[in-house]
Amino acid sequence: MTTITRFAPSPTGTLHIGGVRTALFNYVYAKQNNGLFLIRIEDTDRERSTKEYEKNILDNLNSIGLSPDKEPIHQSNRNEIYTNAAEKLIESGNAYWCDCSPETLEIMRNEQSAAGKKPMYDGRSRNLGLKRSDKTVLRLATPENGEITVNDLIRGEIKFQNNELDDLILMRSDGTPTYHLCNVVDDYEQKVTTVIRGEDHISNTPRQIHIQQALGYAPLEYAHLPLVLGEDKKRLSKRHAATSLDEYQAEGYLDVAIINTLARLGWSGGKNEVFNLEELVRDFDFKEVQKAGAIFDLTKLDWINSQHLSQLDQTSFKKILLPHIDNLNIDYSDYNQLDELIESMRSVKPNLKLIAQSLVPYIGNFKEYDEKGVKKFLTGSERTLSLVLEMLDNLEVWNEAEIDKHLAKLQEKLELPTPKMNQPIRIALTGSTQSPSLGLTIKLMGKNKSIYLLKKAIDFLS
Ligand code: GLU
Repeated sequence: MTTITRFAPSPTGTLHIGGVRTALFNYVYAKQNNGLFLIRIEDTDRERSTKEYEKNILDNLNSIGLSPDKEPIHQSNRNEIYTNAAEKLIESGNAYWCDCSPETLEIMRNEQSAAGKKPMYDGRSRNLGLKRSDKTVLRLATPENGEITVNDLIRGEIKFQNNELDDLILMRSDGTPTYHLCNVVDDYEQKVTTVIRGEDHISNTPRQIHIQQALGYAPLEYAHLPLVLGEDKKRLSKRHAATSLDEYQAEGYLDVAIINTLARLGWSGGKNEVFNLEELVRDFDFKEVQKAGAIFDLTKLDWINSQHLSQLDQTSFKKILLPHIDNLNIDYSDYNQLDELIESMRSVKPNLKLIAQSLVPYIGNFKEYDEKGVKKFLTGSERTLSLVLEMLDNLEVWNEAEIDKHLAKLQEKLELPTPKMNQPIRIALTGSTQSPSLGLTIKLMGKNKSIYLLKKAIDFLS
């Protein structure tokens, strides 16, 4: 039997990073079993679902390489299929009409709570033989005794007592089908074999199995993934970090690094920490997925991104960095050492946007001096800066070794410790206390610009 998985987003918001992780595990499991990965748009909530969100979700998945093997289907245009399934359930005696008003249900729940019982629908309309009207909902006649077992690839067997589950609603009084009915019918219609979704759906699963059984569908395999948490162990939200995929792509995190990081949200197997999608498909195993919530850690994403960036050759690296430099709107057409600059700076920061920003002092103008650096190093360094300026002005050969040699000589003459010598120069040239070796920094800055910036810093100090 062909393994078929599906990602079934509700288009009521942009694609969340946790959703990308669910889609990824569905994709990987299908591919490693030579199966199919499908998408189903669960857009039955007409008020909250929008075409914009749907487009965002599908575009994002495509952009990261998680494209489905068939055209996505939409629940909003499959009403007839759900109605037919509901008819079948009525005919077989597995569903019944219930006319309890919201007030009746509330009184029922209050009485149950007062008696120390779990509030749930008590099945009072089940044997009344009510007919359909504009006030009735259709309910599933859930078995009253026995238990249901969910076979979970991560959690093993999970058992639920049937008497804990009430008769859930399959169709609302306006005739629209509910999430549970549509979800079960579509998994059957799409020939899904394996349902991989978030842990928050565990409590839905026994209910959905009851619908499946009542419709005579074959059982499915399940995997309920651990929740994605922020560093404080609460569900990942915008308070913790950006939660949408496109924000990470815009910052210059590689797709392969995002996939690598998301796969690590729960899965700890495999030989290496750094891998691509193909290797993930080869090595992934649900047996190695944890049950506990998985923390999304930005420093880990940074590290993994740096590792993937370092694997790129210079040409590929430059190609993907250039759009980020272009985004800075700096005219660097006169700067003639771009290749060498990129080569020297490519590992200074963890993402392409930050790497591009760190090139600004060389190809454009930095905005201001780092405040702490000014206090700690620049103040009082006028004499050093003037002497460096004079030395550079007289230098005939302009290369890293030559510049370093003359700087060392000067430092010896001034009897200065290295930070006192180097940091004021760094700040004067780049505005910050971080740059490659000083000889290289000055070389990449160019003679005229170095002299101009040293003068500017001396002026700033006076
Ligand atoms: N539409 C549901 C959700 O977005 C899908 C649940 C499922 O995968 O079965 O949570």
